[in-house]
Amino acid sequence: METIRQVDEMQLRALALRDTGKRIAFVPTMGYLHEGHLSLVRAARQYADVVVLSIFVNPTQFGVGEDFESYPRNLERDSAMAADAGVDIIFAPETADMYPRNYATTVRVDGITETLCGESRPGHFDGVTTVVSKLFGIVQPHAALFGMKDFQQLAVVRRMTLDLNIPVEIVGMPIVREADGLAMSSRNKYLSSEMRQQALALSDSIHNAIQAAQQGETDVATIMDMVKSRIKGGQDARIDYVEICHDSTLKPITRIDEHSVLLVAVFFGSTRLIDNHYLLAPMD
Ligand code: AMP
Repeated sequence: METIRQVDEMQLRALALRDTGKRIAFVPTMGYLHEGHLSLVRAARQYADVVVLSIFVNPTQFGVGEDFESYPRNLERDSAMAADAGVDIIFAPETADMYPRNYATTVRVDGITETLCGESRPGHFDGVTTVVSKLFGIVQPHAALFGMKDFQQLAVVRRMTLDLNIPVEIVGMPIVREADGLAMSSRNKYLSSEMRQQALALSDSIHNAIQAAQQGETDVATIMDMVKSRIKGGQDARIDYVEICHDSTLKPITRIDEHSVLLVAVFFGSTRLIDNHYLLAPMD
């Protein structure tokens, strides 16, 4: 495995690989890797000859007062895990190389960025779509893999690649969970053991909602009430949102059908966790 730090070098390498007929699969991350990231890497192998993993804590997708500074970073630890999982190239650029002086472009998707995480984190998705566009231009992938853990992000990236005719196949992968159900996240590291216990309310309440929906409950309000009261049981939990939406428009709905996705975002202290699931699909 090789680590490339320079933007120009990564782009030249990618173009050279493509010239020799190699297919490139790409997994963008912010690092502090866990099994969720590694599941994307393993799946990436099926799409290409060369797997590139980027590690970049992108400042433009963090809001004021969010955890950009404290976000966990450990390239040495990540490199060992990435090598084990079969990454060929780690691309870990510096901020000043990604956003040099005079940098002036933002890529913005309208509509589906205005609800859910977009509403509670204004500007977040502009940062995401901008950095993903830049990374696609640098890494030149044939396929890029994203986790359904960030359901809205996946929908936004799909919209962007369609709208801008970007020739990259976008692949969505299932959420990887801890044995007790908590969705893996680099931010889980911030949780005290007490809060981690309370955080199980996310996956538990989603599990209960899926059961109710599969037993025939079709009323969204009833299911949302159930989920909210389970989450509010935790003394440190503060709900950011609980919504049941259509999977492609991300608009709220009133009756459950096969397009219905339950999405939740909850603060435990200053740590904000998200989780989601289709209501009429078996839990992953
Ligand atoms: P992040 O480093 O949090 O920006 O995540 C990088 C990629 O890994 C994104 O596509 C995430 O959706 C994905 N990811 C993060 N956590 C998980 C998880 N628990 N299961 C599957 N994919 C995940």
